[in-house]
Amino acid sequence: MSIETLGEAWLAGWRVKARCLGRDASTKKGTRPCLKNIDLDMETLLWTRGRDFPISLLPQRLKCPACGCRHISVMFDVPTGRKRA
Ligand SMILES: [Zn+2]
Repeated sequence: MSIETLGEAWLAGWRVKARCLGRDASTKKGTRPCLKNIDLDMETLLWTRGRDFPISLLPQRLKCPACGCRHISVMFDVPTGRKRA
C-alpha cells in the first residue's frame, strides 16, 4: 500500500518531523544554518490540512518560526511493523 495523503500516513502510524534548512537570522551575517527541528503533530496536521492533503506538498506549507525560511525538510518516521514479541 502506498501512502500519499495525511490521512493514510496517520492510519499507518507515521510520525512526522520537520527541519529548517534556512539560515539563522539572529547571527550578524546570517551565515549559520538554522537547523531548527520540530516534531509535527499528525493530528493537528489532519485538522488543519485535511486527511486528503498530499504529504508530498507538506514541505511547501511549512515556515520556520525562528528564521522565517520556507525551505523546510520533512521526514517521516515509519513504524517498523514489529508489534508483538
Ligand atoms: Zn529556520
